[in-house]
Amino acid sequence: MPSGYIVVCGAGGFIGGHLVRDLQRRGHKRVRAVDIKPLEAWYQVSPEADNLVLDLRDRDSCEQALAGASEVYNLACDMGGMGFIETNKALCMISVLINTHLLMAASEAGIERYFYASSACVYNADKQIDPNVPGLAEADAYPAMPEDGYGWEKLFSERMCRHFTEDFGLLSRVARFHNVYGPHGTYQGGREKAPAAICRKVIEAKLAGQSEIEIWGNGEQTRSFMYIDDCLQGMDAIMYSDDVTFPINLGSAEKVTINQLVEVVEEIAGVRLRRRYDLDAPKGVNGRNSDNTLIKRYLDWEPITPLRDGMERTYRWIYDQMVRSQAA
Ligand code: NAD
Repeated sequence: MPSGYIVVCGAGGFIGGHLVRDLQRRGHKRVRAVDIKPLEAWYQVSPEADNLVLDLRDRDSCEQALAGASEVYNLACDMGGMGFIETNKALCMISVLINTHLLMAASEAGIERYFYASSACVYNADKQIDPNVPGLAEADAYPAMPEDGYGWEKLFSERMCRHFTEDFGLLSRVARFHNVYGPHGTYQGGREKAPAAICRKVIEAKLAGQSEIEIWGNGEQTRSFMYIDDCLQGMDAIMYSDDVTFPINLGSAEKVTINQLVEVVEEIAGVRLRRRYDLDAPKGVNGRNSDNTLIKRYLDWEPITPLRDGMERTYRWIYDQMVRSQAA
């Protein structure tokens, strides 16, 4: 058991909210949850946690967040799906302040373990031109040509973790998340990612009796999607591993096209819809998948939830939210 608080930064968001619950489920009594959003806007609130509303871009707030703490998960970030990150590059880069000030505060406070959530958006764009891309291996981040804005911030922050370890002895762990999805995530408002956006569009069409949905791009872009339970399991294994001292992929290797993802959702919903392709909409790289060679070698594990199963649970949750808000 850690000697002080486990602090989850970005706890009002999707992954952070699940992590707080998971830590409590696993018996941790002293969990602190921190987010910039007012408490009523958090996706999940655990009343037993020490919940703080703080802007972690500020150094003083980071010191306050880390008082009496021994472990930190930095999941706080101004982010969203392609529709958000392609049009908010400066905002994405400003998240560098969060990791910078958290690292400084962590180093000063003698934090024992520090986790940073990086992203597959750090990978060199040249390696993602072909939809039939082989999985992206960790070495493919260099030479650096990541996603503009968001990806550059993640790559810089990864390196900052490494140098705080080398220069100041702060034990840090970095995982490159590949698309995470599940219940209690963003599904509307412009920051949602493909799995939730497609569930929402299919549900909207179904509830309104419409026969068509809009798809961003030509639908032949490939991606892999990791269910939240796998993400939690992977984070825990990486945080406490003695050997994973480098940024490692945490993602599913089940590659699908966006069209195949739509088919999965249609099957769950029991509908077939005509597709209108918006070729001018933000669509990201053509091909992206996780090469899991290293995670299998170091942790003897990789994300295993089949896409169909995870999407079923996600669809049901989004459906319930939408029906409830329609009835209100
Ligand atoms: P999210 O947007 O749901 O959660 C992020 C949270 O950070 C939000 O609640 C937001 O309010 C909070 N935040 C933003 N600025 C803050 C600030 N200045 N101070 C305090 N809190 C602040 O995102 P998520 O999907 O839960 O992602 C968590 C982390 O994982 C992020 O770092 C993200 O970049 C990374 N990641 C996520 C995915 C994914 O598919 N969800 C993929 C790759 C990487």
